[in-house]
Amino acid sequence: MEELLKKSNEKLIQENRKLREKLNQYEKVYPPKECPICGYKGIEFLPFSNIIHKEVMCPACYSHDRHRALWLYIKENKEFLKDGNRILHFAPEIIFKDLFTSNDVEYHAVDLNPGLYTFADEIVDIQDIPYEDNYFDFILCSHVLEHVPDDNKALSELYRVLKPGGTALILVPLNGVSYNLPYDESKTVENDEYNTPELRKKHYGQHDHLRLYGSDFKDRILNSGFEIESTDFIKNLGLETIERYALVRNDKIFECKK
Ligand SMILES: [Zn+2]
Repeated sequence: MEELLKKSNEKLIQENRKLREKLNQYEKVYPPKECPICGYKGIEFLPFSNIIHKEVMCPACYSHDRHRALWLYIKENKEFLKDGNRILHFAPEIIFKDLFTSNDVEYHAVDLNPGLYTFADEIVDIQDIPYEDNYFDFILCSHVLEHVPDDNKALSELYRVLKPGGTALILVPLNGVSYNLPYDESKTVENDEYNTPELRKKHYGQHDHLRLYGSDFKDRILNSGFEIESTDFIKNLGLETIERYALVRNDKIFECKK
């Protein structure tokens, strides 16, 4: 009996070792994916709506690739969360709440129409920000401007309330990155005739977007007074990190300085 047990134990250990080897080989080809925000580990992220990148949403915390990239950015640039800093966050995602409120910063979570995945302590129209000039050290405005009627006014308002030396992170969905619509990717598409949810979805990619940004979006930023320090934070993370966190290599985080 004892001999039999010993044998079956050895067999189990052997099988276990073989499985481990197989798993190691598999992980070399398909390294496990990871969410830096919630710690999810698994073989995949989920697609979302008609966004061309297929691994958008974290199955555990519902973060999108851009949130994971922003999370890594803020973790790498901790000076933004320095005690006493004033932070303005538009359309604030709930998954960022703890990150921003765990420090002794003056954090303003603002939105005009808080949605399902956002929260807001203040109702603010980005085209008319109720704060004095040069007030904020750090501004985060991700995927907001495509919903705003006068985005140039919004950009000049962001510029106005940012302190000299401060940083604004601005992200928008870009044609050729988020969507693959049949337009010249260097030019923003904006047409008064696309005025129904159906037409907007068809031409701009989403029913409530008011334009489809091309790579000329940077000119709107520059025209508002900002300098663009960098756009390539994600690309510069390197392929291994990009794949592990299912980021989009050619997506741009516009790091804007005043
Ligand atoms: Zn997650």
